[in-house]
Amino acid sequence: MTIPPELQTDFLAGLLRRTSRPAPAIAAAIIQKARAKKGLALEEVGRLLNLSAAAGKDSQLTEQLFQTAALVKREIYGPRLVLFAPLYISDYCVNDCAYCNFHTRNRELVRRKLTLSEVAAQTRFLINQGHKRLLLEFGEDPVHNPIDYIVKVIRQIYAARTPRGNIRRVNVNIAATTAADYRKLKAAGIGTYQLFQETYHRPTYEQLHRGPKADYERQIGAAGRAFAGGIEDVGLGALFGLYDWRFEVLALVAHSQYLERTYKVGPHTISVPRLRPAPTVTYRAAYPVSDDDFLRLIAILRLALPYVGMIISTRERPEIRRQAFQIGISQASAGSVTVTGGYGRQRRQPQFAIADERPLQEVIRAVMADKLIPSFCTACYRRGRTGERFMQLAKPGSIQHLCQPNALLTLAEYLADFTTDGLREKGYRLIAAGLRQITDDAVRSETERRLAQVRAGARDLYF
Ligand code: SAM
Ligand code: SF4
Repeated sequence: MTIPPELQTDFLAGLLRRTSRPAPAIAAAIIQKARAKKGLALEEVGRLLNLSAAAGKDSQLTEQLFQTAALVKREIYGPRLVLFAPLYISDYCVNDCAYCNFHTRNRELVRRKLTLSEVAAQTRFLINQGHKRLLLEFGEDPVHNPIDYIVKVIRQIYAARTPRGNIRRVNVNIAATTAADYRKLKAAGIGTYQLFQETYHRPTYEQLHRGPKADYERQIGAAGRAFAGGIEDVGLGALFGLYDWRFEVLALVAHSQYLERTYKVGPHTISVPRLRPAPTVTYRAAYPVSDDDFLRLIAILRLALPYVGMIISTRERPEIRRQAFQIGISQASAGSVTVTGGYGRQRRQPQFAIADERPLQEVIRAVMADKLIPSFCTACYRRGRTGERFMQLAKPGSIQHLCQPNALLTLAEYLADFTTDGLREKGYRLIAAGLRQITDDAVRSETERRLAQVRAGARDLYF
């Protein structure tokens, strides 16, 4: 793809320079403007990003930034937090990414690719933890991981059942590919197709990658080919630590705005992975991102792209995740393992080390204690609320009128099927409070009716 002017490395670097040293009054006005939840212009994002570089990091402005991000998150998505687990299917990979343990030169890694019966067993394990949504992870390898294998894996996951449920949404993270391959993923019924640009800074990108993934244009054009292949929900991301985080955030916003302008659909989600230690990897973050800056970048993304789902993973420590949930994150992985086929067995050779090792139930307990509603909702794509239709609901904040009842219904299922007395009681109290937050009388009473059905044994009810 030819790179549009606003995504070119020189343009973005120039914009960051032009917006340096923002006057506090201007920054305050931008934060104020963001309360309208209409997003921000690139120029404005540049100024907010430069606030952190400004001497003294004005603490009042920082406070305003976080408070406004929390407000925008609540007004668009409500208090729900969607939970999912990654599932590593194959670590065969022909690429040599400097940061990843699955890099092709790694001879210490005993490569694994799950058979379909192993896929089913891993899926059953995750179902029995309470999960309803998975994110599949594959290395890039046309011989070991061809698209037909990937499609069979997806179908196997959807077919797996245990007495405690099934997986209702499969999102996929595979290397950039062709529109024809994306069409096959779509036909297999995937939810979101996620692909991270890793770094938008082209010289750094080219330096850190070897193999087919080293093609910067192939990577950045993947979202467009996915749309061409009929996929409507696409997820973006950058691996923070490879290059200046301000540049990456500006580029993520520019990329999102470009997709919206060109395809009428912005990204469904943005992920914010931060570089983690990994076995056999000697690369060290050239631009480490501090915890403060990490939270700041989440808040700025939330203001710039209010409608976008934002995902945090178990790369982050529990206390950072907790703060991030308040200021912009709307989805989180939980109870994760980053080893191929690693659930329920002895684990060796992860892709990278995680920093939140709590099981799903512990995460749920902590989330509930913070008055957020853990959600396993999968309603939107099953109701056809994808792509542009989703955006039309998310942009004005109407989506929360669906998110809230669906979060309550899926939490009620989880409480009934996976918890015992103490936690269950707490959960029911949270559900009662969540019901009171539903302002539309008809929706509230319908939700109440369905909650009673769930308590009586009905499953998979959604709006
Ligand atoms: N192989 C595909 C790809 O590279 O796009 C699929 C996903 S890969 C399993 C998932 C993501 O993990 C990568 O896009 C990268 O951002 C991230 N990752 C790799 N090594 C990492 C590390 N050491 N720390 C944190 N994230 C890492
Ligand atoms: Fe392969 Fe993806 Fe790891 Fe790169 S990040 S080595 S493409 S698995």
